[in-house]
Amino acid sequence: MIKLKNYINGQLIEPISNLYFDNYQPSTGKVYSQIPDSDEKDVELAYVAAKNAFHSWSVLPKEQRSKILLKISSLIEKNLDKLALAESIDNGKPLKLAKTVDIPRAAANFNFYGTGILHYAANSHSMEETAVNYTLRQPVGVAGCISPWNLPLYLFSWKIAPALAAGCTVVAKPSEITPMTAFLLSEICIEAGLPNGVLNIVHGLGSKVGNAIVSHPNIPLISFTGGTVTGKHIASIAAPMFKKLSLELGGKNPNIIFADCDYDKMLSTTMHSSFANQGQICLCGSRIFIERKIYEKFKVDFVNKTKQLTIGNPLDEKTKIGAVVSKQHQEKILSYIELAKKEGGTILCGGNKIILENELSQGYYIAPTIIEGLDYNCRTNQEEIFGPVVTITPFDTEDEVLKMANSTIYGLASVVWTENITKAQKMANQLHAGIVWINCWLLRDLRTPFGGVKASGVGREGGFEALDFFTEPKNVCIKL
Ligand code: NAD
Repeated sequence: MIKLKNYINGQLIEPISNLYFDNYQPSTGKVYSQIPDSDEKDVELAYVAAKNAFHSWSVLPKEQRSKILLKISSLIEKNLDKLALAESIDNGKPLKLAKTVDIPRAAANFNFYGTGILHYAANSHSMEETAVNYTLRQPVGVAGCISPWNLPLYLFSWKIAPALAAGCTVVAKPSEITPMTAFLLSEICIEAGLPNGVLNIVHGLGSKVGNAIVSHPNIPLISFTGGTVTGKHIASIAAPMFKKLSLELGGKNPNIIFADCDYDKMLSTTMHSSFANQGQICLCGSRIFIERKIYEKFKVDFVNKTKQLTIGNPLDEKTKIGAVVSKQHQEKILSYIELAKKEGGTILCGGNKIILENELSQGYYIAPTIIEGLDYNCRTNQEEIFGPVVTITPFDTEDEVLKMANSTIYGLASVVWTENITKAQKMANQLHAGIVWINCWLLRDLRTPFGGVKASGVGREGGFEALDFFTEPKNVCIKL
């Protein structure tokens, strides 16, 4: 059985305690590898390595940092099949999705910031004859990067790449539920010639490793993606220490469908925005609002298409719905389906776990589920479920749907379907969200600001926003 190792100071090493815990394969429910149960001592080792490496990495010409990041990107591309297979086994997601989305995007993240840093510039402010101000953007120091399990390498690299490009060194922790591709990334970094200590990956639990990173007195910035409750806890530790914080948190995204939309395009995209990655993408639209004129037609078509989705072995090419990430998460999702029933919802399809045959019989499968008849204010429609479960609700007016869409504590992403550009713009202006997609979903340009409002987070990733986060502006004023 594979035993993962920490990547500290350029070496793959065992945790100091020599303790490990089990890593489960969601599609089979079986243990298939061992994860280091690291603690604050391993984080301290990683921090010291990162601090020592900072002296040289932070002043290395950006062209040289760029070259190494581009090498990492090309090695991820070269290892596409191996990484995609590892991601699918570790997470339960369809192999095809890992091959076409997760791993290419991880390579793109390194490529984007490897080139982006070459174009990053700072301002100068002239005071005519009196003085000139110029702003230095200096890497902040050792960055703490903590990521979740739903898009493991994709989101891990989305933090690490800009941090390294900006000249920070990093102590990173992937989710303990899906650590495998982060481990494979450490091997890639060694092959790419990343200098020792520039990136350190410490595996283990959030309560031990994550907590040690967040509360470390000399790690001045934390980039976190995960649940809102964890984000709140992290903020409560980091804020009194005056750390820079980027928090990408949960969502309960509305998907608003007007009768004047391009119906076929809307329907096929709504299938993806509802059930891609078993609904475990922070950007999935879990509350679908449909203009009453087309509600019945949409309901019939959406339910029929959902019933046709193939649930199966993630490694099978035909599989559209793989396993959800863990037994605990499967139970959480099923408990929300029970809650929806208690709240008066009608299950139109799904609503149950699926038991597959043979070696998959202990895997964590849930049938994609559509629920109607719920009040927009009930818990099922207010709390993040993060699984293959959506609710459908009719509406009559723009103001009514805006009120329902904006009623949650969250504000990450929203989708609007209409051919009327004026209406689309009104929605975009008034929706509480960091991202609004009009007539599309998950169409990403990596230069754009990415993040949420309200309980969906603080700060933005993407483009130069991430480079701004990992650098500190320092104004220098020269009297002429
Ligand atoms: P989580 O909050 O449980 O864990 C995220 C990471 O934080 C993990 O690495 C975990 O080990 C670590 N962690 C846990 N407790 C910690 C602590 N006390 N201190 C420091 N670190 C700690 O989230 P999850 O279940 O892994 O991921 C699902 C959540 O992530 C969902 O809410 C989803 O919406 C959200 N998410 C948000 C985005 C976004 O961009 N906004 C993207 C993906 C996922």
